[in-house]
Amino acid sequence: MIPSFRCYVLDLDGVVYLGCEPVPGAVEAVRYLQERARVMVLTNNSTLSRQAYRERLRGLGIRIAKEDIITSGYAAAVYVKERFPGARVYVVGEEGLKEEMAGQGLELAAEDCDVVVAGMDRQVSYGKMAAALRFIREGAAFVATNLDRTLITEDGVLPGGGCIVKAIEYAAGVEPVVAGKPTEIMARVLLEAAGERPEDILIIGDRLTTDIAMGRTAGTRTALVLTGDDSLEDLEGSPIRPDYVLESLADLVAG
Ligand SMILES: [Mg+2]
Repeated sequence: MIPSFRCYVLDLDGVVYLGCEPVPGAVEAVRYLQERARVMVLTNNSTLSRQAYRERLRGLGIRIAKEDIITSGYAAAVYVKERFPGARVYVVGEEGLKEEMAGQGLELAAEDCDVVVAGMDRQVSYGKMAAALRFIREGAAFVATNLDRTLITEDGVLPGGGCIVKAIEYAAGVEPVVAGKPTEIMARVLLEAAGERPEDILIIGDRLTTDIAMGRTAGTRTALVLTGDDSLEDLEGSPIRPDYVLESLADLVAG
């Protein structure tokens, strides 16, 4: 049995929903937790803005404030704003990532860029990769939202944002600064937003290398759910150990 926490931090893909389909019992579990504690969202998926996630969750019947939703795109934007104030940013990514950059007052540009930010982009093209490469070769900093290999959807496994980042990295020969799970940047953004001690936070996710590793970086407790990417077999072979394993988020509902 899992003890109570003051703050539950949920991954979305593979935990709350799979593509467009909610995980059975997950919505009820989120509501149950919200009656007892704070519930936040922490996702590496940068395709939607925090506002868009708020609306998407609302469509599922879950109400979460924008301030309690943290994406790798938001973390990247906070990092770029702090590290490169006034930067012109070239984004290889979707609208959600561009919105977060603009939300931090950063200028989106396609020429003379100081920073390249790359993440999941379902419209990625050779031209975009060529532009990113040119800016990095000209001295732009290289920031990535995340290195996720895959994205789990109701249609199966799709290439993740990390595939796009790694293609640019391979061409440029430069490693990006990564903002999303399981990095220090994401840990800092999460802990600041949560305002709780790490030991009072439970991070719940379906992936060992991002969600559970994030708990190690941030010092929180962690629970692996088996409704998404990683299985018990994956866990057996992994040095990354969660504090708890759940069949599903619904396991958190007592009774
Ligand atoms: Mg996930």
